[in-house]
Amino acid sequence: MHAIGIDIGGTKIAGAVVDELGGIVRSDRVPTPAGDAASLESAVVEMIEGLRADEEIGAVGVAAAGFIDAAQSTVYYAPNIDWRNEPFREKLEARVGGTVVVDNDANAAGWAEFRFGAGRLVSDMVMLTIGTGVGGAIVAGDRLFRGGFGAGAELGHLRVVPGGLACGCGQRGCLEQYGSGRALLRMAGEIADAGGIGQALARARAEQGELDGALVGGLIAAGDPGAVAALRQLGHWLGEAAASLSAVLDPQRFVFGGGVAIAGELLLEPIREAYLEHLPARGYHPEPDFVVAELQNDAGVVGAADLARVWVAEHA
Ligand SMILES: [Zn+2]
Repeated sequence: MHAIGIDIGGTKIAGAVVDELGGIVRSDRVPTPAGDAASLESAVVEMIEGLRADEEIGAVGVAAAGFIDAAQSTVYYAPNIDWRNEPFREKLEARVGGTVVVDNDANAAGWAEFRFGAGRLVSDMVMLTIGTGVGGAIVAGDRLFRGGFGAGAELGHLRVVPGGLACGCGQRGCLEQYGSGRALLRMAGEIADAGGIGQALARARAEQGELDGALVGGLIAAGDPGAVAALRQLGHWLGEAAASLSAVLDPQRFVFGGGVAIAGELLLEPIREAYLEHLPARGYHPEPDFVVAELQNDAGVVGAADLARVWVAEHA
């Protein structure tokens, strides 16, 4: 059965009709309407109606950033949209009919990797999505882990440095401050300030006015020692966090997605090193794989559609 997946991002809404193998049958994308929840809802309804024309659709899955309840219905809180205890599922079902489910966007992306991408051969997987922030998803025993209230797997807010840098969530020392794209730019800036191997970073920053992801990514790809050192620092923190997660979840595989993961082995190597340093009873514990995500930009829509299909199968 075909399902529709919708991924509401900060700048765009992406949608697609997705088949049972995770293939995209057709897709659409529009800019995210600024600010108000009513125009966002209408944009999503319009996209669903456009996508399902002449198409038998079994269910609709919507992914968005935020805390969403375990019943995949109510958005407790969203950071980018004015949603507070928003019954989004109910509202959408009333407007488009049929079954709609709502999930966290990082969970949807992780589920897509588990079903159709880098996690498809394991039963237990942790995914960390390294974008501007750090998103997380956990699959345990072939099931997406949501937690009792639905807001689990917020791995970006795992505390890695007690009393560390302030985080947007109101706490200090969260992984997001040490393992995100924003953290990489901060580390690259510190290396640029220090001179030495940071000279190319400092020159590029002076030419462009500030460091951004494309600039640091380009220097990493060119093998610049300052930019690679920044990436290694980032990988170190991610590897430490992975060791803590392993102690709790014991996954066979860690999957890294998001823009920074394009660095591939250059990122995975320091992650593995830090992981092994912090792994309890090293040598006695089977070691998980560390791999890069396979689905990239489509993961949100593919995962949202498949989670809707799973819901229908389990509630039939
Ligand atoms: Zn935080």
